[in-house]
Amino acid sequence: MRYISTRDNTNQYSASQAIIQGLAKDGGLLTPFYIPKLPNNALEDLKAMAYQQRAVYIMKMFLEEFSVKELTDFANAAYGPDKFDTPAVAPVRTVDGNTHCLELWHGPTSAFKDMALQMLPHLLTASLTKTEENKTACILVATSGDTGKGALEGFKDVPGTKILVFYPKDGVSQVQELQMLTQEGDNVGVCAVVGNFDDAQTGVKALFSDEEVRQALARRGYFFSSANSINWGRVLPQIVYYISAYCDLLRDEKIALGQSVNVCVPTGNFGNILAAYYAREMGLPIDQLICASNENNVLTDFIREGVYDRNRPFHNTLSPSMDILISSNLERLLLSLTQDPAEVKGYMAQMASTGRYQVSDKIKNRLQKRFRGYFCDDRETQRVIQSVYDKFGYLIDTHTAVAFSALEQYRGETGDDTPAIVASTASPFKFGASVLEALGEIPPASGLDALDRLAAKTGQPAPAPLAALRNKKVRFNQVVEKDHMLDAVVSLLE
Ligand SMILES: *Cc1c(COP(=O)(O)O)cnc(C)c1O
Repeated sequence: MRYISTRDNTNQYSASQAIIQGLAKDGGLLTPFYIPKLPNNALEDLKAMAYQQRAVYIMKMFLEEFSVKELTDFANAAYGPDKFDTPAVAPVRTVDGNTHCLELWHGPTSAFKDMALQMLPHLLTASLTKTEENKTACILVATSGDTGKGALEGFKDVPGTKILVFYPKDGVSQVQELQMLTQEGDNVGVCAVVGNFDDAQTGVKALFSDEEVRQALARRGYFFSSANSINWGRVLPQIVYYISAYCDLLRDEKIALGQSVNVCVPTGNFGNILAAYYAREMGLPIDQLICASNENNVLTDFIREGVYDRNRPFHNTLSPSMDILISSNLERLLLSLTQDPAEVKGYMAQMASTGRYQVSDKIKNRLQKRFRGYFCDDRETQRVIQSVYDKFGYLIDTHTAVAFSALEQYRGETGDDTPAIVASTASPFKFGASVLEALGEIPPASGLDALDRLAAKTGQPAPAPLAALRNKKVRFNQVVEKDHMLDAVVSLLE
């Protein structure tokens, strides 16, 4: 399996090169040359397997240079009982007859980012060995909240790596910030950026493509790599859980082999829903992909109009991990829809110069055949949390609530009640204050007190790593302006 840039297919890369580089030199995203098809009997075979084995089976199809033995070791380490609080790893919980919630937050940081970020460090360090790279990887991460902690937890004390996380100063929840600032490990750094997530992400991309900085780093024995969802090693492990969810539904006889399902995903950077799209390309019987956004509804408009336009007000919402106006991974979808890197490159050039592009009618039609876009505001998010809790006794977080709203809107509009898998992306306790408020309580000022209150109100315990935050020491306090992010890199490497 070879990998190419979304903007240019003249250079081809191996999987390990793609994982090490993170981003192509031309600014494109490294992406498989083609998406392999699941063999005929795959879903039947996978049905009987544990999550870890399913991961090996699926990832192997994209990672020829990795042996089954290697991938088995990685999967056992990444998804073992010391990391995930359920042996199912990503359990499917049926909320009502045809609505199935795929719970992706049973890992160490209580958000779905763990599904990929527990795996990525294994893929990356093995890739370094395979390519005989002996420099230290300096991993830069821009986070809207959950990626940062997930990456820190995945990479802490991993030999051959240093990791630096940038987060928007006022754009993450109190619990998210505390999770990052208390991170342990000798190879980690955390820095706040004055600005929003897009500023942090743009800053990281600028550092990546600054040739002078790269060379200075190389002289000191470092090279930049990325743990953001632009890295193929992030997207790939996410394909696994959609296929796994389908197999669970098969195993539990909630669907029949070959039966279509819809998938609904609360979306920000387009990484998670892209993985569902790839699962579909591999042959998983997914009919519609429902893309759920909050008030930062740039993707809803894109899917409906074929125009991507980031020139609009930025909203800080109750679902901060989706407060994004530049959805990086959409570029990979564009490659798949156009099959033409030059066309993608053209759109991305327009995006860089005007913040806007319009796809051709042909591409728009292809897009609309697969994707439906819906969004909701914070009031609706709160209403849905309350209503799902009242009706089903099921507690969901603010991001997952946006997806439930989108699914409800889709079903209302189309009358299509195909079984749906809703990606549940965070534990409700991670956004405890907002969830309490949605349930009609006045949340306490401290995010940690909110955890306890939510536990008391619902009778459900907070995930252990969140409860443990109270006793952790704050280790980081650096804040930089958005054009001074290099300072933080310099201090980390000192
Ligand atoms: C990151 C995140 C999202 C958005 O996922 P993308 O892959 O960026 O689309 C949604 N919900 C939560 C809780 C997240 O952490």
